[in-house]
Amino acid sequence: MSVPVTDSVTRFVFERAALRGAVVGLDAAYRDSIGRHPYPPRLARILGETMGALCLFANSLKFQGSLILQLQGSGAVRLLVVECDASLRLRAMAQWHGDIDDAASLVELAGDRRRSRMVLTLDPKDGGPLYQGIVALEGASVASLFEHYLATSEQIASRVWLEADAERVRGLLLQRMPGATDADTATWARAVAAVDAAAEPFAAGDAHSLLTSLFRDDDVRAFRPRTPHAGCSCSRERVAGALKLLGSEEVESILAEQGAIGVDCEFCNRRYEFSAAEARALFARTAAIH
Ligand SMILES: [Zn+2]
Repeated sequence: MSVPVTDSVTRFVFERAALRGAVVGLDAAYRDSIGRHPYPPRLARILGETMGALCLFANSLKFQGSLILQLQGSGAVRLLVVECDASLRLRAMAQWHGDIDDAASLVELAGDRRRSRMVLTLDPKDGGPLYQGIVALEGASVASLFEHYLATSEQIASRVWLEADAERVRGLLLQRMPGATDADTATWARAVAAVDAAAEPFAAGDAHSLLTSLFRDDDVRAFRPRTPHAGCSCSRERVAGALKLLGSEEVESILAEQGAIGVDCEFCNRRYEFSAAEARALFARTAAIH
């Protein structure tokens, strides 16, 4: 069966060892997410790799909410947010300043580690508690950040490989399943070595050929692929909520300066406009309720 890697996430298991993993391909989902902003090429690729990694993890979680990675940096990148929800809807944004070196790593772009913070949030969106974990800013690549996070927070031995160019993202996750025995160690070592040794691990255009070419000595069973896509969860209601949080005084000061309020979604660039009357009505309604 031929399953294109294009815009897909395919989970797989090793039939004879306690190993599992997933292959991700992001094409239109990647280009649509980053194409709305003039990101420097290196930053676009880092966003792409992060989207690929979140897709791999979101796909393996049993939840209805969103997985959100947020970096608050003190260097060339001030803010980077990537979100993937349970339906594999992706959105991404980054704020940067100055030139971005084409060889810079995410950790380098984040700047001073003591003044930067990377957090992975699992927001169940059903009223359940938020789960947040700090992602240590260690390791040169996006893949190594996630490997380190999985090893320390989830205590699952994992390897992650990610590649991104201007057009597409490819990624592979390999994990030892809980309860893996010493007998599985040889298979794990062989599988990891096979990917590391592959000159072009993502050369194959479909998930099954990719897995058979990498793991030719093992029986690997792939599941039905799922389709990631670009999309934004912003809405006029959410922007109105943010304006209410800003407070009446701040909103009045913007109105005094600009006459109306325009808010651009930093993810999808959609613009939300509020006339002075509409903006003031937000607070009038609040007052009437209380
Ligand atoms: Zn939006």
